[in-house]
Amino acid sequence: MRKLVLISVFSLCIYGLSLAPKQDVRAVSMTIGDKISASEYDLYRLLEHSRVQAYLRTWTSQLLTAKSSKTVSITAGDAGLSPQIQTAVNSMIVGRCIPQIQRTLHFNFLGPVEVRLFTRPQDYQQAIESLGANSSNSALMAEKTGGIAYGSRILVPLYNDRSPGSLISVLTHELTHVVFYQNSVVPAIPTWINEGTAWYEGITAGKAAAYDQFSTMLEGADMSILQAFSHHQGVYLTAGETALLKAPYDVEIEDYLAVSSLVKRGGMARYVSFLHRVPENGVQGAFRQEYGYSVNQFVAQFDRKLAHGML
Ligand SMILES: [Zn+2]
Repeated sequence: MRKLVLISVFSLCIYGLSLAPKQDVRAVSMTIGDKISASEYDLYRLLEHSRVQAYLRTWTSQLLTAKSSKTVSITAGDAGLSPQIQTAVNSMIVGRCIPQIQRTLHFNFLGPVEVRLFTRPQDYQQAIESLGANSSNSALMAEKTGGIAYGSRILVPLYNDRSPGSLISVLTHELTHVVFYQNSVVPAIPTWINEGTAWYEGITAGKAAAYDQFSTMLEGADMSILQAFSHHQGVYLTAGETALLKAPYDVEIEDYLAVSSLVKRGGMARYVSFLHRVPENGVQGAFRQEYGYSVNQFVAQFDRKLAHGML
């Protein structure tokens, strides 16, 4: 299996980029305004107008009612981050992302988590380098990723246009990687389960905050994957993370579809039970215990479906 250096702790998330289409501010506000809290709504406005200094000066934090978290610390990756955004991100994590993960996956965070936010690409790239990536990798990673989880640390760039829905989704996605790491599910699981589950959690959280945005997001994704396979440019489930950055489509969508198919087939409870068995029994043993056949059989079956255009 092809793997990137440091893969056991690095989770590349191409994610945020494709989840954050540029949209008209008013249109999105109207769609999601009634489904998100005031602080999230204002964060959205703040992010959209972040280049306008006058707006920042007049903006108040009256509506921010973040609870504090003992588990998660939000830190500024550069001088461009305002305390209001820091507070709003904290509110999202405490109010939505962590509860979602605990409710659906039944894992708890076992140690502190640091979420570092960046408002400038160069600072984001530098932080990626400081985690051990070389400069050519880090440039590509900075450009392509919507967030990175490294052990219990998460780096998130904010300078791409982002609605609260997509930010909640990205944060939930990265926190899923961290909770897996803290509970020794990672590095035991293969990349497709790690990324696929993080996507599954991210999309569920995103839908809860901004249903319309997320229900349409995956439309056409199946088609682009099948088209790539018909042109012999498809990347199979077993390919690993190195292939992610070079594929003609977002390979993590494939991971998400594979996890979704497992959840559909056996239900969420069985899938969660499988994940909880992994630290003790390994992925092969845990999978066989829950599903009655091997994980390799499932992967071969899924890859055959991809090859035959049967997603
Ligand atoms: Zn990821």
